[in-house]
Amino acid sequence: LKSMLNDPSLLETRAYVDGTWMDGDEGTFEVTNPARGDVIAHVQDLSRAQVAQAIAGAQAAQKDWATWTGKERGAVLRKWFDLMMEHQDDLGVILTAEQGKPLAEAKGEVGYGASFVEFFAEEAKRIYGETIPGHQRDKRITVIKQPIGVAASITPWNFPNAMIARKAAPALAAGCAFVARPAELTPLSAIAMGVLAERAGIPAGVFQVVTTSNASETGKEFCENPGVRKLTFTGSTAVGRILLKQAADQVMKCSMELGGNAPFIVFDDADLDAAVEGAMICKFRNAGQTCVCANRIYVQAGVYDAFAAKLKAAVEDLKVGDGLEDGVTTGPLITDKAVEKVQDHLADVVENGGAILTGGKPHDLGGTFLQPTVVTGVTQEMKVAHEETFGPLAPLFKFEDVDDVIAMANDTIFGLAAYFYANDLSRVHKVAEALEYGMVGVNTGIISTEVAPFGGVKQSGLGREGSHHGIEEFLEMKYICMSV
Ligand code: ADP
Repeated sequence: LKSMLNDPSLLETRAYVDGTWMDGDEGTFEVTNPARGDVIAHVQDLSRAQVAQAIAGAQAAQKDWATWTGKERGAVLRKWFDLMMEHQDDLGVILTAEQGKPLAEAKGEVGYGASFVEFFAEEAKRIYGETIPGHQRDKRITVIKQPIGVAASITPWNFPNAMIARKAAPALAAGCAFVARPAELTPLSAIAMGVLAERAGIPAGVFQVVTTSNASETGKEFCENPGVRKLTFTGSTAVGRILLKQAADQVMKCSMELGGNAPFIVFDDADLDAAVEGAMICKFRNAGQTCVCANRIYVQAGVYDAFAAKLKAAVEDLKVGDGLEDGVTTGPLITDKAVEKVQDHLADVVENGGAILTGGKPHDLGGTFLQPTVVTGVTQEMKVAHEETFGPLAPLFKFEDVDDVIAMANDTIFGLAAYFYANDLSRVHKVAEALEYGMVGVNTGIISTEVAPFGGVKQSGLGREGSHHGIEEFLEMKYICMSV
């Protein structure tokens, strides 16, 4: 892997704690390339005490960092952004090697992650307070915003760069210090961000990367250590619930980006080619392993067969393979467990009367490669209707009536992203308003951008990331009442 990089020093395997590169008291853990199955790195495994040391360092560093002007903080964040973009190719190679997504997607993710750093470098200057006319003649009311303190993050393996950048950038812009615990499957991208943070001149302790194999111990330390004032998590709803319970003891502020079960609805007045294009990106990006991936595709009866035929053709054009090879559109799944879940959902569809339109088998490449699959005749009773598949399986449901499809789309505990394709103006408004989701894509399959608030309702989470709203998650409001 090192030989593929222009700057091999980006491939670091130590943790970045309080401005030093640290070995773990628990030895090391392995990082595997999911496309080839080989071990690509042994990463330092920190003990819980070492995580506590990082938090203590963050607390100390945060005090000074908070005194910097927004413009000063913004300037080093801007430098961090510039370095990420300068090393976009190398960061992409590292990301593909540990995560599996095609190199073009990996580079795209690095650009997406960096865009948050750029955006919040700018926002650092705009942490505005407020004055409110007093409630009595002698009273003056001022509202100021202050950094919450030390923020800690726990992030998943599906976006090893962007999930951290999206949290760390607003935290640092706000004047918080940040301790990142990357997923144990994909720590190398996070460590490389630490290398660049150091080069950018982010002060020691302000951005740290703690690599640990024991997620639950680290989660407990983050929740129980009084030095942490904010926990920001992206991952499953199941783990989010555990962390919220743990965080309750300290009444810690939490942001939660949890699971989704995105409906993707195609109405009979939709532009079918555009809908297929949107569905392909939305369903098969990252081999279906994103929390905003279309999980259920509802197609109105009049266009069902035509849509299914077009989707089948597009899916058969996908090229499965090692993401580091040219032209590959679909990488492997992250683990055997991920493969089992997709196969379980597929078997459930077939057993209950659905049909495989294309794919449906493990890929000839073996390992965790699966054939991109489309199934038809899917109904609300099947597992895919209620659980996130997180893989390259596109289930097509048929519907007749607008109100019915809205009811089916909302019939889930999740509420992250939803998509629909339609052209009738009143239908567009009605459906967009009726979907109980934090984000709705209308005639588009891609909604993620640093300028808009990303986040879910219901059990998909708490809080928003990105946009001017994203920085509020790391700020406390203080109201000052003055008698004059
Ligand atoms: P995914 O299915 O995306 O892996 P998880 O919620 O299982 O979602 O994992 C997201 C992140 O949370 C990973 O970094 C994982 O190591 C971590 N994690 C898993 N269990 C716990 C836990 N009990 N406490 C804290 N973090 C956890």
